Amino acid sequence: MQFRDLKTQYDRLKTEIDTGIQEVIDSSGFILGKKVNELEEKLAAYVGRKYCVTCGNGTDALQLVLMAWGIGPGDAVFTSDFTYFASAGTSSILGATAVFVDIDKRTFNMDPEHLEVMIKKVKKEGKLKPRVIIPVDLFGQPADYEKIEAIAQKYDMLILEDGAQGFGGSINEKKACSFGDASTTSFFPAKPLGCYGDGGAIFTDDPEMDQMLRSLRVQGRSVIDKYDNQRIGMNSRLDTLQAAVLLPKLKCFVEYELDSVNNIANRYTARLGDKLITPIVPDGFYSSWAQYTVYIESAEKRKEIQEKLKEKGIPTMVYYPRGLHQQSAYAGMSLSNDDYPNTVYATEHVLSLPMHPYLNDEEIDYICKSLLELL
Ligand SMILES: *Cc1c(COP(=O)(O)O)cnc(C)c1O
Repeated sequence: MQFRDLKTQYDRLKTEIDTGIQEVIDSSGFILGKKVNELEEKLAAYVGRKYCVTCGNGTDALQLVLMAWGIGPGDAVFTSDFTYFASAGTSSILGATAVFVDIDKRTFNMDPEHLEVMIKKVKKEGKLKPRVIIPVDLFGQPADYEKIEAIAQKYDMLILEDGAQGFGGSINEKKACSFGDASTTSFFPAKPLGCYGDGGAIFTDDPEMDQMLRSLRVQGRSVIDKYDNQRIGMNSRLDTLQAAVLLPKLKCFVEYELDSVNNIANRYTARLGDKLITPIVPDGFYSSWAQYTVYIESAEKRKEIQEKLKEKGIPTMVYYPRGLHQQSAYAGMSLSNDDYPNTVYATEHVLSLPMHPYLNDEEIDYICKSLLELL
């Protein structure tokens, strides 16, 4: 059994993916090009944004947006404490200061109340200017944008949605990657919509931002004169081969994979919900189930369960064993566990179960039965 089964998906789409890849090879155009343009149009239309700019990966996508906004030394960029490192590393690398926000225990996403506490704290200290909030759509579920948007407005800040795991989710039909001033996603193979290597995308409704991002992803060059570099940029483009993989994958993602992961999540919850704390999806929210994550009573018990499940051929993962405030790279900030009780609790208790659109009923039942026996 696979934690995330990419092989079954490929078997289903083999003809379309192979044909697309062969077309790219035959054309000898390997970077950007027509297929990438077509993908950008389809992605923008799907999430409901005017523009999509693809790039090298989900980390670069975040960094490119922060660069376009001129984020740097003296700026405070707020993100969830319980997330993949890139949500914070991308502001740090630009010389800005990452500020971590505790999570809501049940949704795993940024707690808006703690966000405001941290903004007030930074303002009171008076050393940094609060500029950007990066909410993360963790495990496939959009963050609480209604509350976060109100806070951003109150403190005159920008919102960058980190939708690396959220692509496909929504709140009241408004799709993930359409929240805030700009949004990003990742096409890392294990993400809800993954390619066969690295890839990422940025979404915005602002035409000037679109042009700026197109310049920044190719060394800051002029959109009109390619030998005039107007600013310092990156080299972060999407390979045409990845677009050839993503085009058919986007189609089946929309047609049946999203439904499938939601059915699987419901089946898990129906079987496990009485015995374990299972994920909740608030009213009006829809998750793309990048992960299905439960709480286990203790870290020791979790370790034992992981080992026993592994013996039964069931892979599980701990996302994430550390909060950002506990990362060695941020040790110099001397942050305290006391400020992040929900993150600390999550790091010690979370367990993610196999989740992908091709998990069948027998496999789900086997996972649930095996897990329940071990509790
Ligand atoms: C995966 C991920 C990223 C980075 O994406 P890459 O394509 O691996 O660079 C950023 N943020 C979150 C929340 C992620 O899960």
